[in-house]
Amino acid sequence: AARAEVLSTRHLTAGYGAAAALDRVDVTVKGGEMVAILGANGAGKSTLMRALSGLHRPVSGAILLEAKPVQEMDAHRIAAAGLALVPEGRQVFPMMSVRDNILMGGYLRRDLDAEAEIDTLLHRFPRLRDRIDAPAGVLSGGEQQMLAIARGLIARPHILLLDEPSLGLAPAIITELYDVLADLRDEGVTILLVDQMAALALAIADRGYVLENGRVVQAGEADELRRDASIEQAYLGGG
Ligand code: ATP
Repeated sequence: AARAEVLSTRHLTAGYGAAAALDRVDVTVKGGEMVAILGANGAGKSTLMRALSGLHRPVSGAILLEAKPVQEMDAHRIAAAGLALVPEGRQVFPMMSVRDNILMGGYLRRDLDAEAEIDTLLHRFPRLRDRIDAPAGVLSGGEQQMLAIARGLIARPHILLLDEPSLGLAPAIITELYDVLADLRDEGVTILLVDQMAALALAIADRGYVLENGRVVQAGEADELRRDASIEQAYLGGG
């Protein structure tokens, strides 16, 4: 059966003053897919994630979340419509407990059985269990990233956006993190992922897009992109 589009952009254009950071970008994520966005520093990846989340108002074009135009909506309404962003740099609340940080992500769900949800998330992120009542600020970078993902998941979003989840983390932690992301994909969570670790992202993604100077210059199945020599040189090599 054809899967429905969960999130898509039509000629999405956004910038800072006169400079265009996104130029007529068309991307699509279907239900159950994991899609990776690749690109060098400054290519526009974070601007895309922020625009999709309602944190950066686009200049023109459309963002469709389950066929509904959301490009004019504020971030909290987009969240309520089913999109959860795990932002670059985690952005956990350092003085609040791990538990309260997670619960912040569930504030829109009135039906929440908080204890049951937290227990499910702690099975997914066992490192957080011992730290559940500790202030988030004492966690390692990897633990904070897992917390940020747990905070996103508790909302049971229709789509999860991950902005640079591996940034600044040790290789062993990145492996652990990507195992969790692969599990989420296997469970059918719809995910849009930006990561400098392009080889890792393409290893678990279904499809990918390459951004260059705010434009989509290549798109395809993750396997195809991994085999593409130009992409290998630009993003997968020693990069
Ligand atoms: P990085 O991995 O370095 O974050 P990126 O692909 O996420 O790169 P963006 O951060 O989206 O790229 O930046 C796209 C372009 O917009 C770049 O030219 C960048 O210099 C510019 N830009 C980003 N944020 C701002 C800002 N707050 N004000 C002005 N220009 C900005």
